Amino acid sequence: METVKAIGDVLGQLGVDLRAHAGGDLNSRSPIDGGILASLRADTAQETTDKIGQAHAAFLQWRNLPAPRRGELVRLFGEELRMHKEALGRLVTLETGKILQEGLGEVQEMIDICDFAVGLSRQLYGLTIASERPGHRMMETWHPLGVTGVISAFNFPVAVWSWNAALAFVCGDSVVWKPSEKTPLTAIAVQALFERAAARFGNDAPPGLSALIIGGREAGEALVDDRRVPLVSATGSTRMGRAVAERCARRMARSLLELGGNNAMIVAPSADLELATRAIVFSAVGTAGQRCTTLRRLFVHDSVADSLLARLKKIYETLPVGNPLEQGTLVGPLIDEAAYSAMQDALEQARAEGGRVHGGSRAQVAGCKGGHYVAPALAEMPEQTAVMHHETFAPILYIARYQSLEQAIAWNNAVPQGLSSSIFTTDIREAEMFMSASGSDCGIANVNIGPSGAEIGGAFGGEKETGGGRESGSDAWKAYMRRATNTVNYSQALPLAQGISFEI
Ligand code: NAD
Repeated sequence: METVKAIGDVLGQLGVDLRAHAGGDLNSRSPIDGGILASLRADTAQETTDKIGQAHAAFLQWRNLPAPRRGELVRLFGEELRMHKEALGRLVTLETGKILQEGLGEVQEMIDICDFAVGLSRQLYGLTIASERPGHRMMETWHPLGVTGVISAFNFPVAVWSWNAALAFVCGDSVVWKPSEKTPLTAIAVQALFERAAARFGNDAPPGLSALIIGGREAGEALVDDRRVPLVSATGSTRMGRAVAERCARRMARSLLELGGNNAMIVAPSADLELATRAIVFSAVGTAGQRCTTLRRLFVHDSVADSLLARLKKIYETLPVGNPLEQGTLVGPLIDEAAYSAMQDALEQARAEGGRVHGGSRAQVAGCKGGHYVAPALAEMPEQTAVMHHETFAPILYIARYQSLEQAIAWNNAVPQGLSSSIFTTDIREAEMFMSASGSDCGIANVNIGPSGAEIGGAFGGEKETGGGRESGSDAWKAYMRRATNTVNYSQALPLAQGISFEI
């Protein structure tokens, strides 16, 4: 199989030694052709607890290093990523099935967050606050928090870890990572690159600063339940996030949740339809519909619906579905058979709810017999029906016509998820209304670009069942630190706040 032949080369270029993990029954399977890339051993419960212990010891040392010096390690790691971008991007494609351009894009996102974090290492600002008492000063100080646990999903197997880890390291935390059991090789490769950066950094990087736990749900649960882990950042399904949130709450630990999305776009009468069409296609079929920010629901004003639909149908008929390693392919495989079945079930339900479905059937790809490829589907719906309230992790775009902007915004907000959203309009009133307090209720609300594709700099995350977490840009770093409020009395008296008299 092509993928099995390719994997050795790629791992070699990345300097990955699988010996520590080899010899188990956890298979990394390429969605491209079903080839088994490696059979790995999951960490035992004892190994997991030992790694968390070592990460905790590393934290006790790392927290005392000045933040700009901690940033230097992240800078070196960013250099390793730059040097290995091609090979790591190819490995992401081999293990997730996303097209090579997107595999490379994911590594670029890692590089971008490293750059962001290096700058941040000199900007962990606290406030000074006016005290009501004479001769007193109040201020906020941000301190390292502890071990950050990271649980990640298969579809962004490396970028999500780096969003968390790059910030956590400059904030003075150590990191224990439990990647998806579907994508362990990319995680092992990233850990190898990090260790290379740490070796160049020298003795100031304690062993165990970044640890990797290979395993499935049980390994994730062990991380979530460990009292030495004050923050768990979990990315994945809403079902998983609910379990993690409940377990963290039981021991009063913080959870930072990035869960399922069900993202919509509104196309208004004044929209630039050419621009909208390109944005729709990228957002709906990119990563074969397996992004948390994938466009799943399209609300088109009645007056432009026929024209837009005609354009979309034409493009969908000729979308290049195929081997994601090959140039020209825009739609790669689904992750596995279960994803294929879930897609067919959703399309069946859409038909039962009055939908007219175009596409969605299995596609045969030469040389990729063991992969699950589909033609992306358009489903014309009579209104927003029940199936549209669920996230089906596959390239299905539901389309409904609307008459008033109020109706379209109400549909946008009517689902349990609240990640990303967008509107195409050239009417400033509509754009402002969409972004206003009574507009989209999502964590991301875009104008004249699609809902998918995060850029480092802004805070990323969503509301409601998406979990409420914010990662990556803006002030997301605060989640990885603890805040102390300090009041300093430099007078020779001891006045009490609120004018309270307490004479002894
Ligand atoms: P998943 O929930 O099946 O698995 C995600 C991770 O959670 C895996 O590492 C898994 O082993 C672990 N896990 C599962 N149950 C657990 C438990 N009870 N306790 C601890 N860990 C547990 O998700 P998936 O299929 O890998 O990814 C797809 C989902 O992820 C989609 O819903 C997608 O929208 C979401 N996602 C969200 C974002 C975001 O930023 N909001 C980003 C990427 C993916």
